[in-house]
Amino acid sequence: AQFLRRAVGSHTSSSALRRQFSTGAPITATLFPGDGIGPEIAESVKQIFTAAQIPIDWEEHFVGKEVDPRTQSFLTWESLESVRRNKVGLKGPMATPIGKGHRSLNLTLRKELNLYANVRPCFSLPGYKTRYDDVDLVTIRENTEGEYSGLEHQVVRGVVESIKIITRQASLRVAEHAFQYAKAHGRKRVSAIHKANIMQKTDGLFLKCCREVAEKYPEIVYEEVVIDNCCMMLVKNPALFDVLVMPNLYGDIISDLCAGLIGGLGLTPSCNIGEGGIALAEAVHGSAPDIAGKNMANPTALLLSAVTMLRHLELNDKADQVQNAVLKTIAEGKYRTIDLGGKSSTTDFTNAICDNL
Ligand code: NAD
Repeated sequence: AQFLRRAVGSHTSSSALRRQFSTGAPITATLFPGDGIGPEIAESVKQIFTAAQIPIDWEEHFVGKEVDPRTQSFLTWESLESVRRNKVGLKGPMATPIGKGHRSLNLTLRKELNLYANVRPCFSLPGYKTRYDDVDLVTIRENTEGEYSGLEHQVVRGVVESIKIITRQASLRVAEHAFQYAKAHGRKRVSAIHKANIMQKTDGLFLKCCREVAEKYPEIVYEEVVIDNCCMMLVKNPALFDVLVMPNLYGDIISDLCAGLIGGLGLTPSCNIGEGGIALAEAVHGSAPDIAGKNMANPTALLLSAVTMLRHLELNDKADQVQNAVLKTIAEGKYRTIDLGGKSSTTDFTNAICDNL
């Protein structure tokens, strides 16, 4: 039950926020309930935090109804300012509106807040059987560039181009985060995931930066694994991996693969680390439109993301309390949501967690 204490968190200092907490004053955190199942699972987190008497004041922000010219997206400027001010936040999934003339909400957040690393721990849940019982790894995804730079255009009719950007600055920054994370969490190995045999310039630069940073951490084993081989190894024996660091697109894909190893997207948390000590936690999954509004969603991923937020604030006792209650509830097996083979609604599962606090 202590897996997450080792797996999730951040080396970033948040002493000012901690001081505020120790005085008994509540900490203000931004909350984006998001779209689809977002409001249902955000409600679940709020209920559990209240039951656990965690003194967080949620400052709720909703996705706007029209494009805000200041952000060029449906995300309002005030929402971004809220995260900048509070430095901690929790984000529900945001659907990507289809259309022209605006940026994806997630992309806007990552770019505007410079959320340079997305930390995604993934571990076998005690008492919940999947094909593997020894998964305990963390993917660290570069979050601001790569194929997700938003640079796409038509060259001529029938030919389109998408530009992959890799910079030395962003690669060094995410590699540094991966090694610092490994060191802070007692992890032994960092694997850089790449396709530098084909993408020689871009992934080549990424690897060069990882090697440079690795030299500063001789106590941590460093290796390089080609992405296709990495997928095969993960499915055959996930215990081979510890911390994985990789460019944006690979991280997006590999972390869903990892979610599949332990029981699905309903279970995997993440935390975005930004400059200036910002931590914006969010579930790995999307807005799940197929089950939205049906009281069927599994809130575990968002809840464990909220736990990463508590650990970022070094509120480890509260984090342990919530984490243990959710893991205990799943292990007991009486109340499980449908994605985990159970019959419970989101609300019944949430109430069961509150009873286990
Ligand atoms: P998805 O993650 O929303 O859903 C994939 C599958 O997993 C669906 O069958 C869904 O029901 C299931 N699932 C996801 N979360 C679940 C949960 N908590 N409990 C139970 N089942 C769960 O992926 P998608 O359908 O490809 O994307 C839907 C929308 O979400 C798209 O607009 C996409 O752009 C967006 N999206 C947003 C984020 C984000 O905000 N970080 C991430 C991924 C996708």
